[in-house]
Amino acid sequence: MTAIRPSKKMRGVDELLQEIVTERNRWAHGAKPSTGGEALARAAQLAPTVEQLLRKISFLGSYRWLLVRDSRYERLKSSFAVDAGVAMNDHPVFESARVESRIPMADSTFYVELGDQYLTLAPFIVYRYCSHCHNSEMFYVDRLRDADAVLKSFARGHERFDDEIFLELNELRSA
Ligand SMILES: [Zn+2]
Repeated sequence: MTAIRPSKKMRGVDELLQEIVTERNRWAHGAKPSTGGEALARAAQLAPTVEQLLRKISFLGSYRWLLVRDSRYERLKSSFAVDAGVAMNDHPVFESARVESRIPMADSTFYVELGDQYLTLAPFIVYRYCSHCHNSEMFYVDRLRDADAVLKSFARGHERFDDEIFLELNELRSA
């Protein structure tokens, strides 16, 4: 049996992401392409990495993301009946679903459905009111700044600042 050696084709998600971030930083900090041709060439060079990363994380698309709307304990079943919205791509209206969970689930919180188990996506992915579009949107943590987490909405790239998520992330980091 031939041993499988890690090659360029077998890079992990973290390595692929790192390569993309490094190139992104070159564009942002001093090593910007000077001509349109150079920009095209550098983008083309990075394309296989982006494609490889998308292939590697495509499994994420096969799991449902649920936004909990309401949950109540059913004594006879010893489980919770949970009403949730199912997040579909960047569609703002969530389809409704009823699921049964053995663990309590928090309102207005996203969970990923893994078979009959539910794993919270908070504080990395949250549902918050957006003052730009006057509606609630799905946000992800884009970066940390001073004492705030900077959240960015998936659909429109709107930003909001959140000091509670900043504190929660800090606690996770020191745990
Ligand atoms: Zn918005």
